[in-house]
Amino acid sequence: MGRLAQTEGLTDVQQEILAAVHEFVENEIIPVAQDLEHADEYPAAIVEGMKAMGIFGLMIPEEYGGLGESLLTYALCVEEIARGWMSVSGIVNTHFIVSYMIMQHGTPEQKANYLPRLATGELRGAFSMSEPHCGSDVAAIKSKAVRDGEEFVLDGQKMWLTNGGTSSLVAVLVRTDDENPDAKNGYGKMSTFLIEKSPGFGEVRPGLNIPGKIEKMGYKGVDTTEMIMTGLRLPAETILGGAAGRGFYQMMDGVEVGRVNVAARACGWRSGLSN
Ligand SMILES: Cc1cc2nc3c(=O)[nH]c(=O)nc-3n(C[C@H](O)[C@H](O)[C@H](O)COP(=O)(O)OP(=O)(O)OC[C@H]3O[C@@H](n4cnc5c(N)ncnc54)[C@H](O)[C@@H]3O)c2cc1C
Repeated sequence: MGRLAQTEGLTDVQQEILAAVHEFVENEIIPVAQDLEHADEYPAAIVEGMKAMGIFGLMIPEEYGGLGESLLTYALCVEEIARGWMSVSGIVNTHFIVSYMIMQHGTPEQKANYLPRLATGELRGAFSMSEPHCGSDVAAIKSKAVRDGEEFVLDGQKMWLTNGGTSSLVAVLVRTDDENPDAKNGYGKMSTFLIEKSPGFGEVRPGLNIPGKIEKMGYKGVDTTEMIMTGLRLPAETILGGAAGRGFYQMMDGVEVGRVNVAARACGWRSGLSN
């Protein structure tokens, strides 16, 4: 049993969810994990099974069609999933980061538009801060959005998008210097845009290209990609929260729950080793 699963005082509902995920991992993940990892093959059937179980909407409020569960329940499920195969917890991670960012920072219209489809897994999330020249130093990004009437035009190269190809909603961080000239520093001159796109590779919407999968040494099955924006036009209402200049803080908030996933998956991977 994983470390988190031994937490005292878990509710009956948490125990039930955990038991269902445990059975799913035993029957649907463990038998195929090694072959899929070696073949670097996307676990499409596993993803469909997780959609049916409601995993993609685990923490999305019930009013938007999710299960309305807590961050602890989420961590318990991630630990259990990673016991079977760590890559699957990566498929859940960026989806949950984007859902959480919309839950915390979205306008009422953005919540109503995206959360019900994220809860079912119809929309699947990726998040994009990193660029070829910067990772930890998020404030050094160069990608930018410039206003053109009621729209913004986005240009730049993004890097290392987990689920970049298989997702259909990308939360992307760009500079919006002209929108926030009075900001005290660079942190207040960035915005998060929500980009809907087709899953897949190549031109996934006009002005947006996902060139292909980046080859990795491990953590296979889940796709990691670049993303190129070339004159990508987005309506102003796709800025998360409806106003420019808050993107850095929204992204850092999202990364916080991403860290919960990564910590839980480390516990699960370790307990999988001892099976
Ligand atoms: C498989 C994979 C998936 C990823 N998925 C995503 C994703 O979905 N979305 C996304 O936006 N990004 C993603 N990333 C990018 C990831 O967030 C970055 O790799 C990470 O932020 C580190 O940045 P970097 O690789 O540029 O390393 P650097 O920032 O260059 O850091 C290199 C080393 O220097 C250290 N360092 C950095 N700054 C300092 C400092 N000021 N003082 C002292 N030491 C320092 C770091 O700790 C590190 O050890 C992914 C990366 C990988 C490999």
